[in-house]
Amino acid sequence: MQYGAFLLTYAEIGLKGKNRGKFEESLRMQVEHRVRRCGEGFKVSREDGRILVLCPEEYDYDKVVTELARVFGVNGVMPVKLVPSTEYELIKSEVVNYVKEVYGDKPFTFKVFAKRADKSYPHPSPEICADSGELILKNFPNSSVDVHNPQEKIWVEVRKNTYIYSVVIPGIGGMPIGTAGKAMLLLSGGIDSPVAGYMIARRGVVIEAVYFHAPPYTSERAKQKVIDLAKEMAAFTGTIRLHIINFTDIELYIDENTPHDEITIIMRRLMMKIACRLAEREKCNGLITGESIGQVASQTIQSLYCTNEVCNGPVYMPVYRPVIAFDKQEIVDIAQRIGTYETSIEPYEDCCTIFVAKHPVTKPNLNIIKASEACLPDIEDKINEAIATEDIIVCKADVDENL
Ligand code: ATP
Ligand code: MG
Repeated sequence: MQYGAFLLTYAEIGLKGKNRGKFEESLRMQVEHRVRRCGEGFKVSREDGRILVLCPEEYDYDKVVTELARVFGVNGVMPVKLVPSTEYELIKSEVVNYVKEVYGDKPFTFKVFAKRADKSYPHPSPEICADSGELILKNFPNSSVDVHNPQEKIWVEVRKNTYIYSVVIPGIGGMPIGTAGKAMLLLSGGIDSPVAGYMIARRGVVIEAVYFHAPPYTSERAKQKVIDLAKEMAAFTGTIRLHIINFTDIELYIDENTPHDEITIIMRRLMMKIACRLAEREKCNGLITGESIGQVASQTIQSLYCTNEVCNGPVYMPVYRPVIAFDKQEIVDIAQRIGTYETSIEPYEDCCTIFVAKHPVTKPNLNIIKASEACLPDIEDKINEAIATEDIIVCKADVDENL
């Protein structure tokens, strides 16, 4: 059956009290933005507690479902038969038409569920269920009712229009992008940081990203890999502005002037420091990293203690580390699900792996690290230079070229 519309449910944003309208409007706009990628002629509106997507006569069902199911905030995607009326006799005959179109002569067990948005509608829900159920039984001899474990749950929702459906595709959940501020993701080419960014974005946060590269030690291809990852993330998060910072001069400076086993931690501190400044300039209220306790030397609790210290001032930024307690496999599972894994495992070098100590400190002492950093008198100038020469790349999800 060619469905003329989709009804979308959402969960959490229904709980937002006075802000509810604002949240619903954000979700509506996100959905509108998404379906535009599937062609012309879709209309998206709010209908008490639901989002309604009206479809053009021709569209690619699978593509639309895929797009709708990954809008943050959407809990369920229901392809519906839209009956532009609440007239009772018409509703009942359309239920029969729906069953005919979707199930034909197939044997199936079912139960009818009904909902009225307006409680003054003269036919209460149990009556709608009973009458529709009876008609289905009469018209489809291969069907039978099973109230405990039905194969098909047939829904009749009476709102401004009436909606009939029995297919519910699970949505991705979370909150609509743009309802919870903005944060700066430190995006490397690895597996962890895209997952971290995805998880925070799923709570409604707009993502900007920063990537530190070190040409010629890291290649153009390594940079392209990060751009590809940002584009893949953008299919969920919306457009990501990616700041590319040339870190070569700073890395060489650290490499020449500080103890070898401390360079990783000092490098990490400088990345965070620069990220804090970019975040402040771009009106972000936090940083996001893909750090996970114990994964590598720079991610022991003691190392994280040292790295985090630069985020306390003079520019203060909280750091969100959503995968901090995840095992690698758990992070890999999410990366595979959201489609970033294959890109992340491409074998291009990262600046952290090139300037890496054979035996990095695993329990750095903050005072010792700070003393080492005192041997970098020109570091402020180099940070300013790196920020002044940044590149910004606007990363959008790839759109089908013939649209
Ligand atoms: P990932 O898989 O995200 O690369 P990782 O396990 O390789 O993480 P590290 O290299 O120690 O771990 O990096 C820890 C975090 O620091 C990353 O998750 C990322 O947020 C940030 N980071 C590391 N390298 C870079 C870089 N070149 N540019 C931007 N951020 C980076
Ligand atoms: Mg990495």
